[in-house]
Amino acid sequence: LKLDSAPPQPKLRSKGLDVPKLWAEEKAKRKPSAAFVVVGHVDHGKSTLMGRLLLDVGAVSQRDIDKYQRQASELGKASFALAWVMDTSTEERERGVTFDFAQHHFSTPKADFTILDAPGHRDFVPNMIGGASMADMAVLVVDANQLDSGMKGQTREHILLAKAVGLKKVVVAVNKLDAARPAWSQQLFESVQIDIRKLLAESGFADEDIKFVPCSGLSGANVVNQPKASSPAAWVPKAHFTLLQTLERSIPPTKPTTQETIKQPLRMQIIDVFRGSVTNPLSVAGRISSGNVQNGDVVTTQPSGEKAAIKGLEVSDEPREFAVAGQICTLHLSEIEAQHLRSGDVLCSSQHPVRVARGFTALIELLDSLLPQPVDVHLGRLHAPGTISQLIETVDGRGEQLKRRPRLLKAGQRARVRISFEEGVPLAVGEKIVVRSAGVTAAYGTVE
Ligand code: GDP
Repeated sequence: LKLDSAPPQPKLRSKGLDVPKLWAEEKAKRKPSAAFVVVGHVDHGKSTLMGRLLLDVGAVSQRDIDKYQRQASELGKASFALAWVMDTSTEERERGVTFDFAQHHFSTPKADFTILDAPGHRDFVPNMIGGASMADMAVLVVDANQLDSGMKGQTREHILLAKAVGLKKVVVAVNKLDAARPAWSQQLFESVQIDIRKLLAESGFADEDIKFVPCSGLSGANVVNQPKASSPAAWVPKAHFTLLQTLERSIPPTKPTTQETIKQPLRMQIIDVFRGSVTNPLSVAGRISSGNVQNGDVVTTQPSGEKAAIKGLEVSDEPREFAVAGQICTLHLSEIEAQHLRSGDVLCSSQHPVRVARGFTALIELLDSLLPQPVDVHLGRLHAPGTISQLIETVDGRGEQLKRRPRLLKAGQRARVRISFEEGVPLAVGEKIVVRSAGVTAAYGTVE
C-alpha cells in the first residue's frame, strides 16, 4: 500500500447532451451575433476607433480610459489612450503564449459582437489571415486624409486578403474626418468612398455588401453617437448610420451554421494556445468550423494525433456546457501535454479525425507570377513552408483547362497547382489558402 501516491483522478466523462437540439432551442432566444476583423493601414486609427466603440457602448469604463490617459500622457503619447483599450482590456497579453491576436466582446440591445484584433506589427498579415478566417465580416479603417499614401499598399493588400479568406461583407470606416480640411468635408468623404469602392470592386466585393461610415474614432463622432446638429458633421446623420448601427445592420441574416453543420464531425483550428488560469493550465481558442463539443468530450488534435479531454469551455468569456460550429470559444484541456498543441493545429472528432496531408491540389487565383518554387502557405492560423511542386494547368472562369503544364503562372491567371509540405498538415477539401512568397501575397485559392 503506497500512502503517498495521489488518489486516482476520476476520468472526465461527457454528459452526452443532445447539443444540436439544445442549441436550436437556445438560438431561437438569442440576439443575432457576429465577429468582425479590423483591418487597414497602420496608423489609420484602427485601435483608437475600436477603443472608442468599446467605451461608448459601455464595454470599458471612463475610469479605465482616464487611467490610460494618465499613463499615456506620462509617456508623451496622450493621443493613444483610446487605442490602449485594445492592448490591455484583455488578459491575453499577460497570459498569452503567443500574443498576436485578441478578442473583445460587446453587446448592444440588438446584437452581440466579437472584435477580432490583430495588432498591427510586422507580422500583421499572417495574424490578419488568422483573424479574418474566423470573422463574419470585416471593418476596413481608412484615414480620409491619407488616401494616397495609404491606399496603394496595405489597404489594397488587406482588402485582397479579406476576399481571399472568403469574407463577403465590409464596413468601411472613413476615419479621422475631424482632422480633414475643412473638418468633416463631405466632398472628401465622397471622394474616399469612390476610391475605396473601386478598390473593393477590383477585388471582387459586391456593391451591396459594402457600407461606408464617415466617422472620427478620436472624437467619437458617428461611432456610437451621432454628431451634434451644431457641428460641421451635421450632414452625417441625414444620410448615414453610425458605425454601430451599420454593424448591426450588416450581420449576415443567418450565419452559415445550419443544423447539419452542427451535426458533422468536430473540427476547430487552434488560433491560440495559452494558460487559461491556475486551474486551467492549458487552454486553446478558435472558431468551431463544424460539429460541436461539450464538457467531458475526448477529442483528437492533428497533426500530433494525441487525444485530449475537454475540462471546461467558454464562449464570449462565459462558462458553457457546450459550443457549436460558428462559435468562437476557449476550450480548457486536460490529459494532454502542451508540446502536442500548436496554433494552426486542428482539434477534431476522434472517430473522424481530419486528414493530415503532405501535399494537395489547389485551385488558385494569381496576384503575382509563380514558378515551381518554395512558398509560404497560410490556411487560417496555420502557416507552413511549402513548395509549389507542379503547375498542373491554367483554367478559365469555369475551371476548364486552357493550357496543360504551363512553365510559369502570371498575375491575373487562374490555375490548378500541386503544393507539397515537408511535414504533414491538417487539411480539408474546400478550405481557403493564401500563398505568399518573400512577404508578398502571390495567390489565393481553395483546397481541392
Ligand atoms: P492603428 O495603427 O491603425 O491602430 O492606429 P491608432 O489607433 O494607433 O492611431 C494612430 C494615430 O492616429 C494616433 O496618434 C491616434 O491618436 C490618431 N487617430 C486615430 N483616430 C483618429 C481620429 O479619428 N482623428 C484624429 N485626428 N486622429 C486619430
